Parts: sequence; structure tokens; C-alpha cells
Amino acid sequence: MTDDCLFCRIVAGEIPATVVHETDDTLAFRDIGAKAPVHVLVIPKAHHQDVAALAVADPGLAGRVLATCAAVAEKEGLSGDGYRVIFNTGGFGGQEVFHVHGHVVGGRPLGPMLSA
Ligand code: AMP
Ligand code: ZN
Repeated sequence: MTDDCLFCRIVAGEIPATVVHETDDTLAFRDIGAKAPVHVLVIPKAHHQDVAALAVADPGLAGRVLATCAAVAEKEGLSGDGYRVIFNTGGFGGQEVFHVHGHVVGGRPLGPMLSA
């Protein structure tokens, strides 16, 4: 738990979130600023800054975060049509919250991966 981390505070129950799936060491909750009909954030409960740091520190947990992304996609009905999992990383990657999180987005065609 990192006191000044928004997502650690969600894990601790100090800030409310709409949880859609939970495992022993991962949590999935709806993004407050949804960019698609389904937009869920998947995090490890333990604090790691970004996906690169998580992969180095605990590759098994990184795999379980991906498994939770897949479980969320299945639960939200995205598996048939497809969806996207995005890990924004660092400044140029557009990361705003420095507790690793995968965005699971879908529910409509998502278009090109990047704008020009
Ligand atoms: P990123 O830019 O990849 O760091 O994404 C951070 C995401 O967290 C954004 O999509 C925000 O809409 C989302 N977000 C910020 N605060 C909250 C919150 N309290 N509950 C749920 N999602 C949040
Ligand atoms: Zn954190």
C-alpha cells in the first residue's frame, strides 16, 4: 500500500469503485471516464509503477493480471467480437496513474490503434 496512490486506496476500500471482478491478488473496476461501452481497469493489488516494473518484480503476477483481463472480457461479453487491452506506460505513453493497470476496452469497433 502506497498512501498517495489512487489505486492502492481503491484496493484498501478508501475510495469507492465499481468492482466487476476480483481474485486474491488482482482487482478489476470500471474506469470513471469510460472511453467505450465497456472500459474496465485491471490492476494487481500490490503496488507496481508500470507493466515493465511488474514484469521484472513478479512475472507470475503479471500473468495473473493478463488472466484477469481475459476473465473480464469474457464476463463483459467482449470475447466474440474482440476487444483491446492497453497498458499506458510512462509520459509519452499517456500514463496518468502510476500503479500498473490494463485498460480492457470494447463493445464497439475501436478503430485504428493510434491517431496519427
Ligand atoms: P492512464 O492514463 O493509463 O494512467 O489511465 C488512468 C485511468 O484511470 C483513466 O482512464 C481515468 O479515467 C481512470 N481513473 C482515474 N480515477 C479513477 C477512479 N477514481 N476510478 C476509476 N477510474 C479512474
Ligand atoms: Zn498503488
